[in-house]
Amino acid sequence: MSFDKPAPETGVYVNRHLKMSVIHAVGFDMDYTLAIYRIEEMERTAFELAREILVRDFGYPRETLQARFDPGFVIRGLALDGQEGNVIKLDRFRHVRTAYHGRRKLTEEEIAAIYRKQRISFSSERFEWIDTLFSMPETCLFAEIVEMMEQGRYPVVDTAKLCRDIRVSVDTCHRDGSLKGQVRRHMDNYIERDELLAPTLHLLRSSGKKLFLLTNSELEHSDAVMGWLLNGQLNEYPHWTTYFDAIIVTARKPGFFTGHEPFLPARPDDPAQTVRTLERGRIVMGGNLRDFEQMFGVHGEHILYVGDHIYGDILRSKKHTLWRTCMIIPELQREISLTRRLTPEHYRHVRLERERENIEREILALRLELRNAEHEPKEDRLRLDQLKRRLRQLSGEADQLLARMESQFNPWWGPLLKEGADTSFFGDQVEDYACIYTSKASNFLRYSPVHFFRSPRDYMPHELELWGGAEPPQAQEGDGG
Ligand SMILES: [Mg+2]
Repeated sequence: MSFDKPAPETGVYVNRHLKMSVIHAVGFDMDYTLAIYRIEEMERTAFELAREILVRDFGYPRETLQARFDPGFVIRGLALDGQEGNVIKLDRFRHVRTAYHGRRKLTEEEIAAIYRKQRISFSSERFEWIDTLFSMPETCLFAEIVEMMEQGRYPVVDTAKLCRDIRVSVDTCHRDGSLKGQVRRHMDNYIERDELLAPTLHLLRSSGKKLFLLTNSELEHSDAVMGWLLNGQLNEYPHWTTYFDAIIVTARKPGFFTGHEPFLPARPDDPAQTVRTLERGRIVMGGNLRDFEQMFGVHGEHILYVGDHIYGDILRSKKHTLWRTCMIIPELQREISLTRRLTPEHYRHVRLERERENIEREILALRLELRNAEHEPKEDRLRLDQLKRRLRQLSGEADQLLARMESQFNPWWGPLLKEGADTSFFGDQVEDYACIYTSKASNFLRYSPVHFFRSPRDYMPHELELWGGAEPPQAQEGDGG
């Protein structure tokens, strides 16, 4: 089997070196990791269910049911500011860079007045973070109700309470089984079938790695979804459970990584009272990290865990285990193909920025000269005015170009992983916590099971200035090579 360099859209990207040859076990989360849900369908259903729960359980007015679902309005990595009724996007310095009140974009001045006057703790209760794909309907519903309030089509309510109640409503429709019930009834509508998933798992297994499934979903849902994804795909595997050496459902991550819950048999036909062994094909529930490693016989950095949830899967396992992590970012495929398409615009922007910098330098020098001159030379004054005009024009052009590029990703929020020329808060977390990241689990099929995932050299800004982007010079004769 040959492993050619994959297309960028299906590549695996590396923050921290990872040698697959020392990985002895690969674990997978299920929802949005092995099972890639169709985001729009899932969100719409969750949105509609949560809207009803707000009216039925929390006594919100009937107008709530008129809230419109607009999947184009939201991306992951946003936060709801309950106190102000805003939706915000942060860059990696925790600066609010984009904000909406309902559907109205806040101006720079408004953002500065609300968020830059004092230090704000973004981890406080005031903010609800939308970092999983499951929680995206919250943003839609919150912004829509705030917008209706602004237009006088909805009674004024406390937005901090609204924010909390929306979270509970969305959680409820996940927990009470209503959403997952709908998914199981119309699997084709809600989940993308990935023909490469079974061969990927087979490739990893046949290279001697143990595989496990570690999901918070309960038995009924896991069995239905995994069966739909894997049963009948490869002759060597009569049932989905035979792909895995351990299967843990209702795992209660992140508690799994920190707590002491016992493992219990998950199937009603499993006669055991307690779980002493993890076996191929057997489904267990609950459990904890320590017992898992002990029974499974693989420890720490020999385990690679693949998940989509920055907090529950990636950050927690990074902080409480030595497990290596791979983050699945379904949005990545589209972000990469857009980034690729925008390459000419990107370089144009770089050229504009460079020219801007040169002119700024020239203006400063000229000003200094004028200040020190006994008589102000007329030509210098003219030249200065000319440069200032050009600078204004360049700035306008560069800003417009960047805004046009960003709106290709999402007209309201721009890309998921970037904010302006910086990394977004979400992108920063991916960089900090995930050893590697990719758009879907089956992208591993494009790499040898003993591949060395090498991180690009990490340049600091001063090194980048000196070395960045340059080709190494040709070796000179007598270089001592
Ligand atoms: Mg998940």
